[in-house]
Amino acid sequence: MVPQPRCPLVLLIVMLVVVVSGCANTGSGQPAAVVLDGTGRILIRNASLVLTMDPKLGEGPLGRLQDADVLIDRDRIGAVGKHLPADSAMVLDGHGKIIMPGFVDVHNHLWQTLIRGCATDQELNGWLRSCVLPLYSSPISDSDGYGGARLGTLDVISSGVTTVTDWSHAFNADFARGNLRALQDSRLRFVFVYGANQLPATLAEIRRVKRESIDRDPLAHLEIGVHPTAANYDNTVAAQRLAEELGVPLNVHLHESPADPATGQLDALRRGGAVRPGLVTDHTIQMTDAELDELAAHDVRVAHNPLSNMRLASGIARVPDMRARHMKIGLGLDGGTDDGSDMFADTKAAVGLQRAVSHDPARFPTPPDVLRMATLGGAEVLGLDGAIGSITPGKQADVQLINPGALDFAPQLDWVSQLVFNGQPTNVEWVFVAGRALKRDGRVVGDQARVIADAQAASDRIQKLLGRNFPR
Ligand SMILES: [Zn+2]
Repeated sequence: MVPQPRCPLVLLIVMLVVVVSGCANTGSGQPAAVVLDGTGRILIRNASLVLTMDPKLGEGPLGRLQDADVLIDRDRIGAVGKHLPADSAMVLDGHGKIIMPGFVDVHNHLWQTLIRGCATDQELNGWLRSCVLPLYSSPISDSDGYGGARLGTLDVISSGVTTVTDWSHAFNADFARGNLRALQDSRLRFVFVYGANQLPATLAEIRRVKRESIDRDPLAHLEIGVHPTAANYDNTVAAQRLAEELGVPLNVHLHESPADPATGQLDALRRGGAVRPGLVTDHTIQMTDAELDELAAHDVRVAHNPLSNMRLASGIARVPDMRARHMKIGLGLDGGTDDGSDMFADTKAAVGLQRAVSHDPARFPTPPDVLRMATLGGAEVLGLDGAIGSITPGKQADVQLINPGALDFAPQLDWVSQLVFNGQPTNVEWVFVAGRALKRDGRVVGDQARVIADAQAASDRIQKLLGRNFPR
């Protein structure tokens, strides 16, 4: 889709400029300044379906509107409604299209694009031994962190993600810096989870990262990551204290594989004072009723990663039981163990797994449930729902525009269900983060060939560090 101009002169200018920077229809026939960088106004006019995720703005829990406009005013949602005036805004034709908030990916490891396809015959611990753990004692570098994460950022943007939670293993400070720089270069909104596994050695570096990078970037947030176990108890306590000192959440993998509970993960969190509001637990699969009660009582949030859980034979998270306890649940991709970055496939897996295990097609999450989980639900997990997760005037303009008129999606029948069961990243035409277009007319902004080549070079180095010869 291209901006809809009102005169041939503007059409010509638009066609010349939109590829590199975007341009505006001013309504007066004069081209306006660049508006696709988050500094202008964009009117998406007459979208056939708008899922605002704000029940106050539209019908049902998803706040549905039909044939409605969305005005992006610089970095924010300016207005939602019918027949909004264009004034000086650039106009995108939304007819036949779906607008919804960008996906909020609550758990990823973007560097793991470098190990896609690694040890696909292994469960969690076998996969870790083959593809991750050797890197802690290897000279993995800034450019490795950058190359892997940069590819990951472009791939999640293509899938409609506007906020990514990147749990960095931070093998060393150099690697972490490259990882973080890739996030900042992407212009995504992000939560950088700094894996603090070498405390106290990394204390000063993490404080510096927050002060000099995170706090200066309006798109950036920080969480502290740690692997809580009985054997890693001292480090768990140190990470919790650092999170408290910095005023940020702790983020941990919890009871992912069947072998995890015996390592004392939950007890380490309890004794370390970490079971508290804001704690994000990833996976959270092997859970008793009493343990779920405990997490719910402390407003602990869950990142659900169904594609990864299937790939690693980890099990099926008790998502309906979490929902019954009013826990905040978001959807995550989990890096190299779902291999790709397809958020639509993740929603479909989240629905399908519960149906497969319960024999109940009405089981939570339904398609509307999972679309909320993948957007506003994720924002709630991260504590960012005041700023993102719904298309509400005043919130950040983190929006995706989806084309359902494609071979994989058409014809129109029930678009909410079709988003889950038919949607693919290729259906995402435009992605805006804080009003800046990161995917334009079906193409992710950036030098993809260069990013892929850099990632391949980094992956080649990693494969040597892992000491394995992979079949090509
Ligand atoms: Zn993970």
